[in-house]
Amino acid sequence: MKHLRRNFFKLIGVSFLSTFLLPYKLLYSATKKIINPDLSDEQKNIMLNEATEKPYSSPLNYEKRKGFFHCANCGAKLFSSDAKFDSGTGWPSFTESLPGAFKTKVDYSLGMKRIEYHCANCGVHHGHVFADGLQKKRFCSNGLCLIFKPDIN
Ligand SMILES: [Zn+2]
Repeated sequence: MKHLRRNFFKLIGVSFLSTFLLPYKLLYSATKKIINPDLSDEQKNIMLNEATEKPYSSPLNYEKRKGFFHCANCGAKLFSSDAKFDSGTGWPSFTESLPGAFKTKVDYSLGMKRIEYHCANCGVHHGHVFADGLQKKRFCSNGLCLIFKPDIN
């Protein structure tokens, strides 16, 4: 009898998870579309599974030219070089994105509340946005999700 009850609660738990969380997870992953066939496994892991690249691994940390940062998957224009700053975190950081470039969701992984942002056009993960330090906002980006196109002038 005890065993049955435990199974019953397990079942309730599972159906709770599938009713409330699974559709959201599926819905969210269904909105991510891989468009660029040349993406590496590491890029796909970040974009689809919300992994994070190693700090100081991206050459874009040291990019100081004028231009725009685009989505490495779909090519959408996301950040202006004017918003880029050296945050000292080891990830390319920006004070703001171009209007409408990203959508956000609350992320409770790693046991803390963070705001995840993803490309509004293709849905792939790009990073987390924080409100810390001197800047009002800090878009902490995975460099592997970005392509820099310098201004040609
Ligand atoms: Zn995109």
